[in-house]
This record gives sequence, structure tokens and C-alpha cells, in this order.
Amino acid sequence: MAATWVTAGGKVSLYGLSGTGDLWDRSPDSPRTPGPKRWPETMTIPVSLGGSGRAIKVREVFEAAFVAMARMANPKTNAGCDTYFKALGPREYALSQLLTWKFLIYRYGSADIETDLRTMSAAATYTKGTETLSAHPGTSMVQIMIDPLELTSASRLAATLVHELAHVAGAPGRPSDADWNIMPAKERKGYYAAESALKKCGFSEQHDPDIYGVINGRTGIAQGSRLA
Ligand SMILES: [Zn+2]
Repeated sequence: MAATWVTAGGKVSLYGLSGTGDLWDRSPDSPRTPGPKRWPETMTIPVSLGGSGRAIKVREVFEAAFVAMARMANPKTNAGCDTYFKALGPREYALSQLLTWKFLIYRYGSADIETDLRTMSAAATYTKGTETLSAHPGTSMVQIMIDPLELTSASRLAATLVHELAHVAGAPGRPSDADWNIMPAKERKGYYAAESALKKCGFSEQHDPDIYGVINGRTGIAQGSRLA
């Protein structure tokens, strides 16, 4: 597949592969602390974690995910997707418009992904790390951290990116558990807005009705989750 999205200095930069990662003002990497880290060229997600057990090329999975998103967000064939996105916030960002932004994408985890995957395989629960780190409307740029387990398929990765971009468009993030537990059903509704974008933008199969403002449980092993 010829790369049109993930290119050096192009629309989509993957930290460690095609991006320098120095656009976000943050403290230097602490190798063991989970956080934004570099992508490896290839990685193998074990079958026990929902992967194929074979080495995948990280760049190709992202490339395919962006191609899928662009197809699903095409206003000529699926105007409902852009309409839904525009209603999410006062800036009225369409998904097709957000896809013209520059992306800098980090991997969530420690510096050593092989150890991360082994730890995940052994853990009863695993806290995922997908999160929009910052959005910069002035320069049309967004920085996103993606959990490596989202790369089990291109469509799953695309769905995850659509969810994150819904937050950029204005969908609210997750409230605290304490707030959520006492919240009336009517108020809870808004927190499903990011995940509901999947249904409007062609990723119904990836939609999880239990996800409110946060990505969790898409692997079946993740229960607790970071703010996403
Ligand atoms: Zn979310």
C-alpha cells in the first residue's frame, strides 16, 4: 500500500517512525513510566490479547486506518458523519475537516513494548492508555496517544481514532467515577457522544454501548481505564 497519510513531515507523524515528537512540550521520557513513547517498526500482539500473534507493521496499520476513516467520513457518501461531528461543539468541526489536520501520534506504554505486552498478558486487568493529549485549533494539529492493543485491526484503530476526534470536536471526556455514579440518567447521555460517533461514521461493529467518554473493554480484558 502506498503511504499517503503516514509520511515523514506529512499529515500523520508516528513518534519514533516519522515524527520527532518534540512539538508537545513535555518532560523527557522516563523509560519505565507508562506514557507517550515511540512506536516500533513492527510489533506482535499475542492472540491472548486479541492480536494475530504475528508481527504487524505499525505504519501500515495506521495508514489503513486513516484510509478507512477518510472513506467513512466522505461527505458525498456519508454526510451524516460530518453532520454529527459538527453538532458536537461550537467550532462545528466536521470529521472530514479534522482529517486535514496534522497528527502526531504516540504509543502508550513503557520504552520496552515487549515487556509491556508480556505484562498485559499476565495481568487480570489492564489499564489502557488511549487519550487525546492536546488539540491545537490555531495550527490545526492534534496529539494523540494510542494504546498498542488498538492496533489489532485497522478498523478497530480507525474506530478508536474517530472516538478521539469526537473529543476534539467537543464531545465531553469521562467524569470521575464518583460523579458518574450519582449522575441522573438524563445527564449521563452526553457522555456517550464520543462513542456514538462510531455509529454515525461507519464503525457500528466497533461501537461499544458501555463506553462513556472513555475507551475500555474493547479487548475484553480492560476494565479500569485512563481518561480517554
Ligand atoms: Zn473518550
